[in-house]
Amino acid sequence: MATAETRREELKAVWQQAQTCTKCPQLAAARTTVVFGAGNADADLMFVGEAPGANEDRQGLPFVGQAGRLLDTLLEQIGLARPEVFIANTLQCRPPANRDPLPGEIDACQDWLFRKLELIQPLVVCTLGNFATKLLRGDPVTGITRLHGREEVRRIGPRTVRLYPLYHPAAALYTPSMLETLRSDFRRIPDLLALPAPEQPQPEQAELVVPEPAVVAEVAEAPEPESAQLGLF
Ligand code: URA
Repeated sequence: MATAETRREELKAVWQQAQTCTKCPQLAAARTTVVFGAGNADADLMFVGEAPGANEDRQGLPFVGQAGRLLDTLLEQIGLARPEVFIANTLQCRPPANRDPLPGEIDACQDWLFRKLELIQPLVVCTLGNFATKLLRGDPVTGITRLHGREEVRRIGPRTVRLYPLYHPAAALYTPSMLETLRSDFRRIPDLLALPAPEQPQPEQAELVVPEPAVVAEVAEAPEPESAQLGLF
C-alpha cells in the first residue's frame, strides 16, 4: 500500500510528464500552460471541471476566474478551503476561444485524469457540468440537469469512488435558480465524505493506466520548475 508521500511524489512525476503532452496537437500548439490541477495530493474530495479558460491557461491553475471564486465560496460554505481538496479538469489544455472540448480530446486526456484519481485516491469526486459527468459516468447521453445532486458509487478507471455530479459554477453564475440548486447540492458534500469509503477493486481487476510511451519518452527532456510545482500540491 503506497503512502500518501509516495503517491504525492508520483503525482509530481506525472505532473512533469504532462507538461510536454502533445496528444492533442491543436491544443498543445495554442496553450500557454498545461493546467494539470492543484490542491491536496491526498484529498478525500476532488472536483473535475471542463477545461481551462484564458485565466487558467495563463496562470497554470484550475478555476482562477469568476467560476473559481464561486467555487471557493461554495467550499467555504461547507467549511472547506481549496488547499484541502484537489481540483482538476476533463482537459488539461485550453480549447481555442473556449470552444467545447472535442470527443477526441476528452479521450486523449482521460488517462491523465485516471492517473490523478489513482494517486490521490479521493472518496468523493464531484463532476462539474456535463463534460466531466458524461466522461466519468461513461454515459454520453444523460445530462447534468437529470443527474445533479444524485451520488452513485462508480468505478472510474482504477478507483471506485462516490461520484457526485453538480452544475458547473460558470453556468450557475448566470442563472440564479441554478446557483441555488448548486448551493443546496453542495451542502450534501460533508455527509458524503462521512460515509464509509467505497470498496476498491482488487489489484488484478484494476486497470493499469499508463501514459502513452511517446509522452513518457519526452519526460527526460522536460525542465523541472520545482518551485512552481510545489505551489500546486
Ligand atoms: N472552467 C472549468 O471547467 N475549468 C476551469 O479550470 C475553469 C473554468
